[in-house]
Amino acid sequence: LTFTAEEVMKRLKEDKIKFIDLQFTGLFGRFHHTTMDAKMFRIEDFADGLPKVDGSSIRGFTEIHESDLIIRPDPATYATIPWIEQAPTARLICDILSGGSKRDIFPRDPRGLAKKAERYCGEQGYDTSYWGPEVEFFVFDKLEVNTMTPYQGQSYHITSREAPWSSDNVGYALRLKDGYLPSAPGDTLMEYRNQCVDVLTNNFGIVCDAHHHEVATAGQCEIDIRFDTLVNAADSVQSYKYIVKNIAQKRNMMATMMPKPIALDNGSGMHVNVSLWNKGKNLFYDPDDDYAEMSQTARYFGGGIMEHAQALASIVAPTTNSYRRLVPGYEAPVYVAWSTGNRSAIIRIPAHYKGQKFSAMKRIEFRAPDPSCNPYLAFCAIMAAGLDGIRKKRDIGDPVKEDIFKMTPKRRRELGITQLPASLRQAYEALESDSAFLKPILDDETIEKIIEHEERENVEVSVRPHPHEFALYADV
Ligand code: GLU
Ligand code: MG
Ligand code: MG
Repeated sequence: LTFTAEEVMKRLKEDKIKFIDLQFTGLFGRFHHTTMDAKMFRIEDFADGLPKVDGSSIRGFTEIHESDLIIRPDPATYATIPWIEQAPTARLICDILSGGSKRDIFPRDPRGLAKKAERYCGEQGYDTSYWGPEVEFFVFDKLEVNTMTPYQGQSYHITSREAPWSSDNVGYALRLKDGYLPSAPGDTLMEYRNQCVDVLTNNFGIVCDAHHHEVATAGQCEIDIRFDTLVNAADSVQSYKYIVKNIAQKRNMMATMMPKPIALDNGSGMHVNVSLWNKGKNLFYDPDDDYAEMSQTARYFGGGIMEHAQALASIVAPTTNSYRRLVPGYEAPVYVAWSTGNRSAIIRIPAHYKGQKFSAMKRIEFRAPDPSCNPYLAFCAIMAAGLDGIRKKRDIGDPVKEDIFKMTPKRRRELGITQLPASLRQAYEALESDSAFLKPILDDETIEKIIEHEERENVEVSVRPHPHEFALYADV
């Protein structure tokens, strides 16, 4: 579903819309909104935008002296929000423009940056790129966080009717790491996911292929959405998070994109599948490559991701919690290597589709991203790394066929296999020393704001005693 300005004005009448929710994304991925009385909305607002945002109150945006920002709704993103009962409400995703007389795209608008990434890709000779994010998330009955005082740590308790530790499971609890595709009554969330799919498809025009319970106990879900072009796919991720959280809340549950909420169980990833196209042809496909039918362009693009993997991590896995997911043993990647099957490698080339008939499916699956990332920035950064690899002809090298987890460190060194950062701090330090490849898309100030933000959150977490430290050290 995409609409023109005229069509939206018509739809507002037909759908009897009373409120228009203007939505946009902050630098660190938060989805924001401000709501308008639909009577006040004019078709000119699509061109001129609305001066409705104080940028100095949004993290990573502006300083107090340059605070006014304009939001300009994109008619193509019109959708009705079915769970709002009070009055018919529609949403529009907005671009952000700088205030004042110039009204250029605001340089830290993630959606504006994503558009820039699409233009940059076009200039390099690829008129289209396709992005297929696989968003996993948890649904809990309750998350109780006890903040205590700033001087003490926090404690938390997760309640899930599916979890073995919850008293409200009725006897069909799933075991740790044993939640993959269990039928009901073990899986209690099928109707919830059906409802999400219904809203994604019928209200938001986001095509869903299938949905399932993921490996973790305690309500880990995945709903697969059809690949799309870069900005559209990032819009869809934002809509997806918004929908699954709100529908969960309507059902008295909470959905979270936190990558690793449960110790000793799988975390949530957001694998990103990507391919570059020109004139209707998938340039990642080459029938003459026996191993994975992967073209030289794809090999260079993947090589770029491998070369910049450490710095990329800071953008695709941008929270302290991300690094609790990226550890051995939970299907999350740890090693900078690629393979067709091994889930511990950062790149997987799904190889079961072979032959011309499936040429459109040939793609690179980058497994490091998690759903705490800002999808616009993540796609920008992956694009920048891949195109850098193409420009510098960085071949992806040989696939790793052995189980990397079982290799000795010496064997890994022989094969030149490095690791992803082990902490957010290592990740933003890697970004500090390897950011040139991002410059065609992200400017210095944007990169600085990202580093500053991550450093601040890293300090917030690292200055506090961790609950498990009491188990280890209270008796020392
Ligand atoms: N949950 C796993 C992760 O953290 C991925 C599982 C899968 O391959 O779908 O990336
Ligand atoms: Mg999955
Ligand atoms: Mg996957």
